Amino acid sequence: MQLTRRQETILEIVKNSGPITGEQIAEKLSLTRATLRPDLAILTMAGLLEARPRVGYFYSGKSPNRVVAEKLHRVLVASIKSVPVVVNEKCSVYDAVVTMFIEDVGTLFVVKEGGLLEGVISRKDLLKTTLGGHDIHKLPVGVIMTRMPNVLCTTPEESVWAAAKKLITHEVDALPVVRKVALPDGGEGLEVIGRLSKTNITRLFVELGEGI
Ligand code: ADP
Repeated sequence: MQLTRRQETILEIVKNSGPITGEQIAEKLSLTRATLRPDLAILTMAGLLEARPRVGYFYSGKSPNRVVAEKLHRVLVASIKSVPVVVNEKCSVYDAVVTMFIEDVGTLFVVKEGGLLEGVISRKDLLKTTLGGHDIHKLPVGVIMTRMPNVLCTTPEESVWAAAKKLITHEVDALPVVRKVALPDGGEGLEVIGRLSKTNITRLFVELGEGI
């Protein structure tokens, strides 16, 4: 977060003399309280200053970077995820390409009955197969997908930061958002309930940037 020179000065004053009232800060800067109001509001909303009625402003002790980091850890996958686009593993590579175009996504999740996760198909998986001279009308995606248990997932409760870290560390474009379900045989499966892609993260980034 980029502070103006005046906001930096206010922070310094509060750091050195807080708790201090808006009136007193204005006096030190030879400005009116009304002029300072937007700056004080921004510094308080950003979490750099805290305001207590009848006491005044005091410094929260948090650096601007720390405030941004805390915000990113607080946003959960549930609040920014998209609807998943899924196919069955018997779906042909040709139909998977068509689905990607129609649904305008770069990653498809392969599920079986009950929406249980079986695999992932990316654009390059499909391109590779197309270049390989296969009959893409006959070849099922089950043959070319990245299969469980090698699929990286996220959950609605995970922080966006942790999920974004997975995308970057493992160099993938999207994660299925899943929840654990009990299977009739006593085992556990992962039901696909959403999609988290680099686009979701970029959208959040833009939204956070607009908050200044
Ligand atoms: P692209 O193929 O467009 O570069 P990705 O980088 O997402 O897209 O995919 C690279 C490889 O990683 C592909 O083989 C794909 O099947 C696999 N992959 C994609 N998403 C995941 C995921 N969430 N977990 C594990 N593997 C994945």
